[in-house]
Amino acid sequence: MEIITTVSALQQFTKQQRQTGKRIGLVPTMGAIHRGHLSLVSASNEQCGETIVSIFVNPLQFGPGEDFNRYPRTLENDLELLQVAGVSAVFVPGTDEMYPAGFDTAVHIGGVTAPFEGAARPGHFDGVATVVLKLFLAAGADAAFFGQKDYQQVCVIKKMVGDLNVPVEIVMCPIIREEDGLAMSSRNRYLSGEERRKAVVLSQCLADAELMVAHYHVRSSSVICQMIQDKLQTAGLSADYVSIADPATLQEIEEIDTAAVLLLAARIGTTRLIDNTLLLYAT
Ligand code: AMP
Repeated sequence: MEIITTVSALQQFTKQQRQTGKRIGLVPTMGAIHRGHLSLVSASNEQCGETIVSIFVNPLQFGPGEDFNRYPRTLENDLELLQVAGVSAVFVPGTDEMYPAGFDTAVHIGGVTAPFEGAARPGHFDGVATVVLKLFLAAGADAAFFGQKDYQQVCVIKKMVGDLNVPVEIVMCPIIREEDGLAMSSRNRYLSGEERRKAVVLSQCLADAELMVAHYHVRSSSVICQMIQDKLQTAGLSADYVSIADPATLQEIEEIDTAAVLLLAARIGTTRLIDNTLLLYAT
């Protein structure tokens, strides 16, 4: 497994791999690798001859007062896990490599960036889009693998790739969960024991909503979202948003009469967690 720290070395590496005719997969991450990340690596390994993982805690996507400084950085352990997972190369650039002095460009995507995470975290998706486009150009990957865990992020990246004709296939992979249902996340490390026990309510809310829609044929978004708000409050969590939206445009919908995505964000103490599920409409 190669460890690459500069954009030019990454471009050189992928140019060589391309000559062998192999399809190249990219898995962008911020490190603190867990089974969620490794599932993306597996998907890439299945679909591509070479998998490149990037590890970069991107300062541009953190707002003032967010957790950039305390974000877990566990590089040594990450590299061991990625080696075992059969990754060809890990791209670990420094901040100066990605944003050298004088860097003055931002990628802004409209529409799908406006609600939910975009509203709660101004500038977040500009930071995400900017770094991801840089990674796409540096890696020249044929396919890039993202988790449904960050559902809105996948919508944003798909929109960028479509609007800018970036020649990369975007693959969305399912959410990997802990045994009790909590979606895996690097931020779960922030939770105290008691907070961790409470955090299970997020996925329980999603499961309740799935049941309401698929089994009890509840169609009203507001009824479902209110049920979730109440449940989160009872568990001592503070909901940031709970919403049901069109899975492609992310526009909120009132009646679930076709495919829909339920998205939520909530705080447990100082930790902010997100989760989502696709609601299956059944007649
Ligand atoms: P992060 O390191 O948190 O920026 O995540 C890097 C990639 O891993 C993103 O595409 C995430 O959506 C994905 N990811 C994070 N957690 C999970 C999970 N529990 N299941 C599947 N993918 C995940």
